[in-house]
Amino acid sequence: MNAIADLSTADLGALRTRVRNAYDAFRARGLKLDMTRGKPSAAQLDLANPMFSLPGNGDHFTEAGDDARNYGGVQGIAEVRALFAPIMGVPADQVVVGDNSSLALMHDCLAWALLKGVPGSAEPWSKEAAPAFICPVPGYDRHFALCEEYGIRMLPVPMTGHGPDMDAVEALAADPAVKGMWCVPKYSNPSGEVYDDATIRRLAAMRAGAPDFRLFWDNAYAVHHLTARRHDILNVMEACAAAGHADRPFIFASTSKVTLAGAGLALFASSAANVRWYLARASKRTIGPDKLNQLRHLRFLRNIEGVHRHMDGHRALLAPKFDAVAEALERHLAGLGAARWTRPEGGYFITVDAADGTARRVVALAKEAGLALTPAGATWPLGQDPHDRTLRIAPTFPSLEEVRAAAEGIALCIALAAVEKEDAGRSRPA
Ligand code: PMP
Repeated sequence: MNAIADLSTADLGALRTRVRNAYDAFRARGLKLDMTRGKPSAAQLDLANPMFSLPGNGDHFTEAGDDARNYGGVQGIAEVRALFAPIMGVPADQVVVGDNSSLALMHDCLAWALLKGVPGSAEPWSKEAAPAFICPVPGYDRHFALCEEYGIRMLPVPMTGHGPDMDAVEALAADPAVKGMWCVPKYSNPSGEVYDDATIRRLAAMRAGAPDFRLFWDNAYAVHHLTARRHDILNVMEACAAAGHADRPFIFASTSKVTLAGAGLALFASSAANVRWYLARASKRTIGPDKLNQLRHLRFLRNIEGVHRHMDGHRALLAPKFDAVAEALERHLAGLGAARWTRPEGGYFITVDAADGTARRVVALAKEAGLALTPAGATWPLGQDPHDRTLRIAPTFPSLEEVRAAAEGIALCIALAAVEKEDAGRSRPA
C-alpha cells in the first residue's frame, strides 16, 4: 500500500470507501471494549492465588525473631529487603519496603522534598520561586499529575528510542530551578523503550544546576519482560556514585504487577544518606508497614529466581496480547504513512503515533464504535500533546479475544482519521 499522501484522487477515494466500510462494520458489532488503563488481567492476578494461604497460621516471625503481627519495622523485614535488593541494585540495607503503592512513595518523597528539602537542599523545594521537573514524553500520566498537584512546572523532553534526548536534558538540568526528573528506565511507560548505558551514564554524570537535584527513577517494569530476553540496565546507583553524585537517584519499584496490583509491596532504594532522610520522614507518618504482606511475598516468591519464574507466567499471558496489537496495526496500517508504533519487549504499553493532528479524532471515532481509549494527550504534561498524535494502548487487562477486536478497531480509526485529514488537506484552497 502506498502512503496516503501519495495516492491519486481515485486511489484515495477507494481507500476511503474501504476503511469507512470496515469501520462501520466494526461499529455495528456493538462491542464494549476498554483499552484505557494498564491493569493486570484476572488471569494474571490468579497466578498469585497461592498467596492467600500465606504466610500461614502461626508463621509470623521474621528471621530476627520479630513478630510481624506487631507495630514497627519501618524499613521493612531484612530478608524481604534482601529478596528485592538485586532488583533495586543496592545493598539490602539501602532498600525500604513500604506498603502497597510505589506511587505513594513517590508522592511522599515529592511532598517531603517540598516541605523539608532533601539531603543537600539549602531550603525546602517549595521555597524555590518555580521548581521544575524534566518530563520525558510520552510519559506516565500519574507522574505528571503529581507535579500538577503540587505546582511543579513540567519541562517535556522527547524520548529517542533508547531513553530521553540527553542534549535536551543536560541543557535543562543546568537551571538551578530544575529539581528533578521522572525516569521509567526499563520498558518505559508508555513507549516501552529501555534506557541504554550511555544515557544512564550521562544522567548520572551531568551537571545539575540544583545541588539537590534528584532522578525519580521509577523502575516499575524491572522484571516485566515480554520476550525471552531479560533486558538489563546499567546500575544507576553505581553510575551516580562513580560520577560523584551518590545522592542523585531515588529508586522506586513495586510488586503491583508481579503479585497483586492492589496488595503488593512498594520499594524505595537510594544512598545511605537518602535512606536515612526517607526513614526519618516515614517514621513520623507510620509506626510500620504491613509486615505480614512482606512475609507473604517472601514465602511465595522465595528468591530472585522465584520472581523471574513467576514473571514467566505473566509473559505467557501478555506476549500474545502485544503480538495481537502489533499484527492488527501492521495489517491495516503498514505503508500508509498514517502511524508509527512501538514493539516493546516488556512493560505494559504500546505507543502509537498517529498522523499529526488526528489523535483526538481517533479517540472520538473509537468511542463511537464502543472502544474506550486513553484520552489523547494523557501521556503529555497537563494532558497537552502539541502534535495531537500520541496514543497509549494498554493491552493487558482485556481478554486476548477482546484485545484482537480492539486492535482491529484502533487500526481502523487511525486509518480513517488519516484519510479524513488527507481529504481536508486536499479540499483546502491552494
Ligand atoms: N510507575 C509506573 C511507571 C507505572 O506504570 C505504574 C502503574 N501503572 C506505577 C508506577 C504504579 O505503581 P504502584 O502500583 O506501585 O503504585
